[in-house]
Amino acid sequence: MITYFPAIYPDELVYSLLSRFYLQSGYLSYTYAAEDIYAYKQVRPDHEFINVLHPEMREMIAKTVPMEKLVEKHTMYPYYGRFMGKFRRRKAFESLVTLNGNYKNLLAMPTKRDGADRFLRYCPLCAKADREQYGETYWHRGHQMVGVNVCPIHKCYLVNSSILISGKATPNLTAAEKVVPEGEAISRCNNLLELRLAEYTLAVFQAPVDIDSNVSAGRFLHSKLKGTKYISDSGLFRNLTVFYEDYLHFYEGLKEKTKMELWQVQKIFNNYRYNSYEICELAMFLNIPTQELVRMALPEETQHMDTLYRRVSKELDADFDIVKNIGDAVLKIYQTEHRVQQKCGAKGYQWSKRDTELLPEVKRTIKELYGNGADRPHKITPSLISRKLELPDKQLEKLPLCKAEILKYEESQQHYWAREVVWAVYKVLREGQSLNWRQVRNLTNMRRVNFEACLPYIDEMVEEEMAERIKHLL
Ligand SMILES: [Zn+2]
Repeated sequence: MITYFPAIYPDELVYSLLSRFYLQSGYLSYTYAAEDIYAYKQVRPDHEFINVLHPEMREMIAKTVPMEKLVEKHTMYPYYGRFMGKFRRRKAFESLVTLNGNYKNLLAMPTKRDGADRFLRYCPLCAKADREQYGETYWHRGHQMVGVNVCPIHKCYLVNSSILISGKATPNLTAAEKVVPEGEAISRCNNLLELRLAEYTLAVFQAPVDIDSNVSAGRFLHSKLKGTKYISDSGLFRNLTVFYEDYLHFYEGLKEKTKMELWQVQKIFNNYRYNSYEICELAMFLNIPTQELVRMALPEETQHMDTLYRRVSKELDADFDIVKNIGDAVLKIYQTEHRVQQKCGAKGYQWSKRDTELLPEVKRTIKELYGNGADRPHKITPSLISRKLELPDKQLEKLPLCKAEILKYEESQQHYWAREVVWAVYKVLREGQSLNWRQVRNLTNMRRVNFEACLPYIDEMVEEEMAERIKHLL
């Protein structure tokens, strides 16, 4: 029975909160605390994310901070997940919120930096300020960003603590207050460029994440090249060599290893790399305000065409970028020849206005119905959403943005069954009942043959061990 629980501090890691709880609750040893904190007491506490918690502990924390907020504001999720493709970004977020333990497969988390072990870090001046304000210090998220070595608030270098972030560490929870010394010598940073980049990266890290954004960092950065010498007049071909030369020149004052190679820059533009620090480096060089990088809005006509290109690339089973390149080239020729007449007039305008206005409502409804682990999932279809929003028949056909949003969730019946099974399994487990086929069948009304048909999709939804359990239910 947990009787006392500390409040979480701004930008504090969940690991830090739990370590303060352990320190302040008077447990005889870590093992006793681990029994109360974690669902599996032998687990190695995750410094950057959240392990599967004991139900009572989970409830205790959720009373003060909703899980979504905990993940977004108190784990490293935005740092590793923000610029990932939508599917993985969403999956990782959901698996952190529902604590199903699958996030490790989805987020690439480096335990080492340039071959050296990573440790939890702190800023001696932040520690001093914490102690003055709260009477103790804590582990700050903002000090753990790989690639950033200074505290932009105090303009000094971060310090490695003795707490190792790696699989080798003996399971334990160590509060910052126990290991961060007082009155430590400060190492000032006088490199203005390094400070500016740290400040930029921190601002992006701490901004809200748009879990549902369809725009990749590569596409967004590409759109920002428009009108520069780094892109051809048609807007299709990047001149990355010139871009890279100027990038190196811009960051001349930074240490060599913090700068990227040309091929790495290329991979970012082609959406094969999504490291926050690297993307911030490029965005700051392109003079993109942090608020814009966080929103990643594309110019409107691009977004509109993208929906079409996505459909074509799906239909032809062809690479999206190729379809887009061809499509854009054709459009360009047509537009200059004035052969394309835009749909216009008052009616067209009204529909497009309605489309934009209704979109947030559609997104909200989908979010409610899709299921987030706790609620039973629904299969998202145009007719379900029309019904829920009480839209007249066929109206969605006139609302391309809303329709495209719904189609993003298109899934096969088997895929949907798999989501239902996962939901049922976790419900049974959460309620402390024994897991067997009968329970799952009662909850889902699913026939044996349907259950078998959905099994291939289980792997992408849960961790290996759980997938095996589910596959052996029959
Ligand atoms: Zn500081």
